Amino acid sequence: MIKLAIMKLRKTVFQSVIISALAVSFVAAQTRHDVRRSVPPRNRAIANIVREIDARNIEATIRKLVSFGTRNTLSQQNDPKRGIGAARDWLYAEFLKAAEASNGRMTVEKQSYEQAKAQRVPEPTIITNVVATLKGSQPEAANRIYVVSGHYDSMCTSPTDAKCDAPGANDDASGTAAVLEMARVMAKYEFDATIVFMAVAGEEQSLLGSTHFAEEAKKKDWNIDAMLTNDIIGNTLGGNGVRDRGTVRVFSEGVPSTETAAEATARRSVGGENDSASRQLARFIKETCESFVPQMKVMMVYRRDRYGRGGDHIPFLERGYPAVRFTEVNEEFRHQHQNVRVENGVQFGDLPEFVDFAYVANVARVNAASLAALAWAPSRPKGVTILSQRLSNDTELRWEANKEPELAGYEIVWRETTVAVWTDSKPVGNVTSFTMKGMSKDNYFFGVRAIDKDGNKSPVSYPRPQARAGS
Ligand SMILES: [Zn+2]
Repeated sequence: MIKLAIMKLRKTVFQSVIISALAVSFVAAQTRHDVRRSVPPRNRAIANIVREIDARNIEATIRKLVSFGTRNTLSQQNDPKRGIGAARDWLYAEFLKAAEASNGRMTVEKQSYEQAKAQRVPEPTIITNVVATLKGSQPEAANRIYVVSGHYDSMCTSPTDAKCDAPGANDDASGTAAVLEMARVMAKYEFDATIVFMAVAGEEQSLLGSTHFAEEAKKKDWNIDAMLTNDIIGNTLGGNGVRDRGTVRVFSEGVPSTETAAEATARRSVGGENDSASRQLARFIKETCESFVPQMKVMMVYRRDRYGRGGDHIPFLERGYPAVRFTEVNEEFRHQHQNVRVENGVQFGDLPEFVDFAYVANVARVNAASLAALAWAPSRPKGVTILSQRLSNDTELRWEANKEPELAGYEIVWRETTVAVWTDSKPVGNVTSFTMKGMSKDNYFFGVRAIDKDGNKSPVSYPRPQARAGS
């Protein structure tokens, strides 16, 4: 119990260590001393990453992207000043600059393909994603990939109007600028797993660039463990008149897009519609935000995306990769997908004066802290099952051994079935099964996460009921 209490305090105390050296009155001095000594060095690195994200760089990127006039996917590709080609080349050069700090670990490429005629593509068009890959440094983890993206294309009122001004400052220069800033800050750090920083095109043409990337990843059997898209993350004064500079929405699907019939049967039987890998990712991001970016709050939204709308996480979900979407809380639709104009004294258009650059930087911090925490943590436990053959008031969990060298052990987490986040945890050591005595699997949801020697924790794996013998 004491151990549990300390685990719970650690996070609170750690926050206070980062924010200020001031004492936290409710923690006994001795406990604080112990806890402070045990703050893992890599957690300090996450705090440094958060601190190094700079709103001024984000503002400069957004203004530069706006300066290309339009970034419509159908606009000019060879004009050095105007159109999506100019934006593509500028971004490529900026990611290359960011990569200089990586000692060759970050590589940058233009991933291009020819998109055939489609609903929003009147003639075959080259679509180019700018992709910066920061290779993981731990051989056992380097094949595990985390992807963070924004889309650099934009649109005015019509998605196929390639001539109109489409500044796209918020949609989605904000997300693109956040990703570029993360690449700049994180390139000099060595992570166990690989992180891909990506600016995609063709989003407004129906998620074309991200679909191409996700499809290529699937074909190559890449192990994408999480994908975070940032789209419309810069407006803090909503069309509803509400100003909120301290909250970001994280959308995650509950039932996986790729759920099989057998999985659906199990879910209908014992629940789990609130426990997809994407939902665990959202919880992980929320916890990480609370630890490292306390000025921000993650508002988890239990749906794939907003009503009638989509984003670049969807092609990943459809291919079985856990993914979430970051978006501001109160949108202002007069500044999205609008021709720049003044009507009855009201300014329409997605202009930089409506972007809150400090807020974009905070959303970037939540992303960066989450990516760093993911890429330094061990992988999620695989093959987690809950034994269901036997009627018992105990709960027996099993999982496969994690092969990473820095693994210290595992934690069982649990919550009551109506609660949104994991409320309790218990370290169980480096084992591959554990029985929660006197705790019924009927009354709680359980999960398992891996912990390494530095205290980095993986996202939670939610168990499947173990199939009955012969079925
Ligand atoms: Zn968008």
